[in-house]
Parts: sequence; structure tokens; C-alpha cells
Amino acid sequence: MVYILFGPPGSGKGTQAKTLQEELKIPQLSTGDMLREAIEAGTELGMKAKGFMGAGDLVPNKVMVGLIEERLKESDCANGCLLDGFPRTVPQAEALETMLAVADKPISKVVSFQVDEEELVSRLSGRMVCASCGASFHEQTRQPREAGKCDYCGSSNLKKREDDKPEVVQNRLQTFAKETTQVEEFYRGKGLLAQINAMGEFNEVYSRLRGAMRQ
Ligand code: AMP
Repeated sequence: MVYILFGPPGSGKGTQAKTLQEELKIPQLSTGDMLREAIEAGTELGMKAKGFMGAGDLVPNKVMVGLIEERLKESDCANGCLLDGFPRTVPQAEALETMLAVADKPISKVVSFQVDEEELVSRLSGRMVCASCGASFHEQTRQPREAGKCDYCGSSNLKKREDDKPEVVQNRLQTFAKETTQVEEFYRGKGLLAQINAMGEFNEVYSRLRGAMRQ
């Protein structure tokens, strides 16, 4: 049971994955969260990734493939996982295919989240992320129940992401657009791709996502 949630920054895949992992009892593997944790902890990986992330560029494929390869070996992935933010390029998708073949874990579905660019910019510019558990909120449209406090883990550590600054956001969206078509085509060719309209209320999008996963 391996699902890939594919979509531009701000498309809500991470937020959906948080609920989905509770329902399916398989972990969400967010490469963005993993890199941010590495930067926070000051590891070698974090040092390698920091410059790329700060500029809104992709971290080199080799680094990302190594990171996911190690993570997939952990015991909580025995029944599968939800990949959030990986793969983002065709070489990553090819490397993943090899890893999963070795582990005998086929991909069940790749769900591509479709959101208008204008909406993405508005979501990212107001986004606040819990630095403790990675949950996302929005200054206007998805405020936490208690001001400044995460609904999920209760920490008072809600922050704006460095790479959600307008000048970086533009580059992240362009970078994503450059790679998207090829990654989608790669999975369409394998009969694994489903696209969903990811605009609207959380529950609406969640039910479209569940529908697409069952197709
Ligand atoms: P995200 O939280 O998924 O928006 O990722 C934040 C940043 O982490 C991206 O802008 C990239 O710099 C980096 N990143 C995350 N996942 C990948 C990936 N699969 N390949 C390359 N870079 C990545």
C-alpha cells in the first residue's frame, strides 16, 4: 500500500496526508519535513539542503533518493506509506520504482492535486506551520482553534516558513511546473495516475482523494 500524493507547494497534500495516515495506519513520508528537521538539527544532510531550499530550488536527486531509500527501510513502513513531496522528478520516480520492486511494495496510486496558481500563492502567503509536528494552518482561512497553538500536538510553535516568502514562492511554483508534466506522464503511462480538484473545503478534497485512491 504505497500512495504518492503529488502536487505543487500549497496544494494541501501534506494536510490531507496527516488525516489519511491516521485512517490507513501507514506513515506520511514528507521529504520537505524531513529536510527541515535535518536543517533544524544541523546535520550534514541539512547543510547540503539548506541553500537549495532557501532559494526554492530542488535538492539534488541523489540526496533525495538516498534519504527516501533509508526511510523506507524503517519498520513503520512495513505495510506501506504515503509519499508526500517525493518523487518530484523523473529520475526520482525511476529510482523509487527500483527501490519498491526490491521491497516488493507496488505503488497503489499516484494522486495529483490540481489547484489554480492564484489560489496557491494566497495559501502559501498566509501559511503557518507547526515547527513541532508539521501541521499547516492559514492566517485567514484555517486558523488554529486556539490562537498560536497547534490543534494537533498542542505546541505553541507556529511559524511562517522561510521559503513561503513571495520571491521564493514564485521560483518554487516554476520549478514544480517544469517537472510536473514529465512526472505525471511517467505515471499516466503506467496507469497509476489520478488527478483531483484540490480546491475547496478540506472534507470535500478528502473525499475526492479517497475516491481517486479507490479507482
Ligand atoms: P515541500 O515542503 O514539499 O514544499 O518541500 C520544501 C523544499 O524541500 C522544496 O522546495 C525543495 O527545495 C526540497 N524538497 C522536498 N522534497 C524534494 C524532492 N523530492 N526533491 C528535491 N527537493 C525536494
